[in-house]
Amino acid sequence: MPASLKAVRKTGRVMSRRLMRRNNSAAMRFAEAFSRFPVLAGLIGTAIAISMAVLSFAALWQGRAQALQNAHQASANLVATLSADIARNAEAIDLSLRTIVSGAQNPAVMALPPDLRKLVLFDGATGMTYVGGAFVMDREGRIVIERDPSQHADLLFNDRDYFKAHAEHPDASLFISGPYVSRLRKGVTSLAMSRRINAPDGSFAGVAVIALNVAYFRNLLSRVNVGRSGSAFIVQQDGVMIARKPALPSDETAYVAKSPTFAAMKDAPSGSYISRSTIDGVRRLYTFQHVPGTHLIAAVAPAEDDVLGGWRERSVVIGGLTLMFGGGFIVISWLLAISLRSRAIAHEKLQRLAGTDALTGLSNRRALDRRLDEEWRRARRADQPLSALFVDVDYFKLYNDTYGHAMGDDALIAVADCIQNSAKRPGDIVARYGGEEFVIVLPGAASSGAFTFAERLRVKVEELAIPNSAAPKGILTISIGCATASPRLADDALKLLNSADAALYLAKRAGRNRAIHEDSVANGGG
Ligand code: GH3
Ligand code: MG
Ligand code: MG
Repeated sequence: MPASLKAVRKTGRVMSRRLMRRNNSAAMRFAEAFSRFPVLAGLIGTAIAISMAVLSFAALWQGRAQALQNAHQASANLVATLSADIARNAEAIDLSLRTIVSGAQNPAVMALPPDLRKLVLFDGATGMTYVGGAFVMDREGRIVIERDPSQHADLLFNDRDYFKAHAEHPDASLFISGPYVSRLRKGVTSLAMSRRINAPDGSFAGVAVIALNVAYFRNLLSRVNVGRSGSAFIVQQDGVMIARKPALPSDETAYVAKSPTFAAMKDAPSGSYISRSTIDGVRRLYTFQHVPGTHLIAAVAPAEDDVLGGWRERSVVIGGLTLMFGGGFIVISWLLAISLRSRAIAHEKLQRLAGTDALTGLSNRRALDRRLDEEWRRARRADQPLSALFVDVDYFKLYNDTYGHAMGDDALIAVADCIQNSAKRPGDIVARYGGEEFVIVLPGAASSGAFTFAERLRVKVEELAIPNSAAPKGILTISIGCATASPRLADDALKLLNSADAALYLAKRAGRNRAIHEDSVANGGG
């Protein structure tokens, strides 16, 4: 058996190993896709990191909204409690005022002896802790009856806002005055709650007054916990601050009506908003409610810094870690992408080198195996013929012996170039099979085309006129065996190479420097 036939057997073994390797798992294919498109690894890594960061920041933002919501809820409960307490006391005082008014308008009551009359006019509610006094004033503003005796003989109260309101408006109901400094009770700041007393003909006959110490509101607020920098306050609808926690400097009555956010508080029965205090400049979450039956507004306002302090600390830690890990993930993804890319480039270079014959630069046996397999399958799909040519340099041993091995190499390179320049169609394969043997695969070429090609190539090498003085013709020549197959009908590429090798054997036997096609042998030609 010729050496070239042994080599063809070897080709077969290489091919079956390739078939096994084709059984790649999906994971491997996925990994391969990554190595083919390294940028994808970087982009996917970046997208994952950004998605995680977005999710993390969305969760943090949600946490902020939750913290504000919780604070608002707690404030709303406090405000409701404050409002209910004030409303209940205001109602109790109003009931007392109604008793005083109806007594003062009743001549029978007024005719009672002073001690008895007091018992009828001033009920238990007028004795509440923060009630500073209960009075009946006549139409001039002079106190005519009082619950507790005081020095007031020469005092007139017709300058008080409540007195004027009742004197001028017959239909004024319960009137709650602004805070004033009491002239009777050592300057205690008070609110007057009052009702009008009518004469039998409906004309103004005086006022029933119950003074409520502002200390009541301060005490109420002192029990409210509003955090380190929060505030709570009771304010009149006209913007006059009645009481505030933390307390204002004693000589100052805050007037908040000009605050840009007070309008919101004035016009709605209840609500909440975030604003910067005009009094101390602290940003707070205001939650307020109008006290039913009065012109007072109760408000609780924890400081934004107190409410969001914990959340901010958490956010800095979580946000910082998210950015750090996310950034790290992105950097690692791109490092991976870069290393995959350089690996892919190195791999491709190695593949090319592994498939290239070092001397001639043609494909080597390994590359021939792979490409012949591909072309064979392609031709089978396209139902086209495929021709293979086995080329062997004639008397090359003699050439080496005559001119030396180095000249022999140069001659092989010249023949290789000549073959390479002849087979230039896409899909054509030119390979150094070994020694001074070459294989050419011509996809789509039928017998006649392959033979014509072989003959032209043989002439071209002849025309190179490389001297080989020891050979009968005196120049370097080649012999070519051709074979053609229809991959749809034929068994495999191995048989095709076998046939070409057999035709080459015949060409050698027939005297060398010739091309023989297996078909012409079968038809009796040659
Ligand atoms: P034939 O006409 O029957 O083909 O005779 P031949 O002398 O060409 O064939 P043979 O197989 O006897 O010798 C082939 C020679 O090719 C032997 C070997 O020294 C030479 N050869 C193989 N590879 C190389 C190579 O890479 N460089 C050189 N210079 N010579 C090589
Ligand atoms: Mg040989
Ligand atoms: Mg030879």
